Amino acid sequence: MQTNINEKWSKVLNILETEVTAIFFDLWIKTLEPIKIVDNKLYVMASSIDAKNRCLKLYKTELSIAISDVFEEVESFEILSPEEKEEFDKTNKEEVSEILPTRENLASTKFNEKYTFNNFVVGKSNQYVFHACKSVATSPCSTFNPLFIYGGVGLGKTHLLHAIGNYLKEKNPNLVCVYVTCEKFTNDYISSLGTKDKDRSINAFREKYRNVDVLMVDDIQFITNKIETQEEFFNTYNDLYQNNKQIIIASDRPAKEIATLNERLTTRFSSGLTQDVQSPDFETRVAILRKKAQNEGYKVEEEVINYLAEKIDTNIREMEGALAKVSFYASLNLKHFASLEDAKEALKDDDSIDEKEILKPEKILDVVCKYYNVSKQDIIGKKRNKEIVEPRQICIYLINEFLTLPLASIGELLGGRDHTTIIHARDKIAEELKINKKIKTIINDLKSLVLKH
Ligand code: ADP
Ligand code: MG
Repeated sequence: MQTNINEKWSKVLNILETEVTAIFFDLWIKTLEPIKIVDNKLYVMASSIDAKNRCLKLYKTELSIAISDVFEEVESFEILSPEEKEEFDKTNKEEVSEILPTRENLASTKFNEKYTFNNFVVGKSNQYVFHACKSVATSPCSTFNPLFIYGGVGLGKTHLLHAIGNYLKEKNPNLVCVYVTCEKFTNDYISSLGTKDKDRSINAFREKYRNVDVLMVDDIQFITNKIETQEEFFNTYNDLYQNNKQIIIASDRPAKEIATLNERLTTRFSSGLTQDVQSPDFETRVAILRKKAQNEGYKVEEEVINYLAEKIDTNIREMEGALAKVSFYASLNLKHFASLEDAKEALKDDDSIDEKEILKPEKILDVVCKYYNVSKQDIIGKKRNKEIVEPRQICIYLINEFLTLPLASIGELLGGRDHTTIIHARDKIAEELKINKKIKTIINDLKSLVLKH
């Protein structure tokens, strides 16, 4: 954009050269420098206050005409002395760095240093996704593009994206490698639409996300329903892909299960490598806890590690949180090593490790059956009368709402139903919710019953 201003400015100089005395032109006019256009006003810097005053006194009109001839969008202009320029820079600083990102500041996505490949424990549940990420980090743009990784909450997806970033930055500091959450991408896009100079800020937005070598978008499932953002993301995606740039996406579910994800995006996402990360088995959980204890300097007995790995089996983040809590509890009590008793005491009020409190799909099924007074056999069976179909569909809707389970698993639970049946049921209830007050009340009742359980 600045190149554009400079080009136009040389045209202004060409015009003025024919209208101003040669000596005045050489001494004063030639030293003027265009800075920026703000709100249709062009700011120009003079080399001194003297130069500013002379130009304005003798050639204000000529300057004004030449500028408006060349810059169509400009309505007025102002010459700033060097001191005034300093003030101007201060007030416009944020805008300049926000709107005109350079390659240098783009490259500086700060990756979390703790999230490296070395700190990632590899087990059966995550070996494939680990190798896929390592492979993309070792040779970006030439193996799997896009790489789409998915899996439940707290299973290490964000860790892996940062690990790719850290690895790339170490091996090739010149690569521009940008990590962004879907939420940030959406917010950036929306705020670029809301500025006064919409075209300019959209261009800046595009420059920011398309001038990269590697783009990672985390938690893409949140793109649901945002049609314009999807369109923009689709264009960003195509632009990068056509220019042979690497794209890496993380999601809590497979692309085809992201409700309302544009078909074109689903197809794009599935065109590279899709790899899931599963819940870690017991041995992997133990190894993760050991590594964490070692990295953070937590002193806990082996029994504690086993206890935590046994109690918390679905979310590594929660497992790590519990470990930190136990370690903190022991240190408060001046213990060198946290024992099993310390762990039990520290976590006695902790819901996440109480087996009874972990929400299982069976529990939802139970609550719905009681509420409708129907049997579980009926729900998972083949009957198609309204009295059964409604609770069955609601069951599916709630399981999908509360738990991050693949549709195929929900189908399994509900008597081996096909995933298209699950999608149909889920969307049917979602639609009903918008128009049917009775269903809305039922869902609200059931939600609070499930949570109370
Ligand atoms: P997600 O993005 O899938 O929700 P995160 O990447 O935020 O999960 O991981 C949650 C926590 O668990 C992080 O602190 C991460 O370091 C840790 N973690 C997950 N998987 C592993 C693993 N295989 N080895 C070591 N730490 C892990
Ligand atoms: Mg994450």
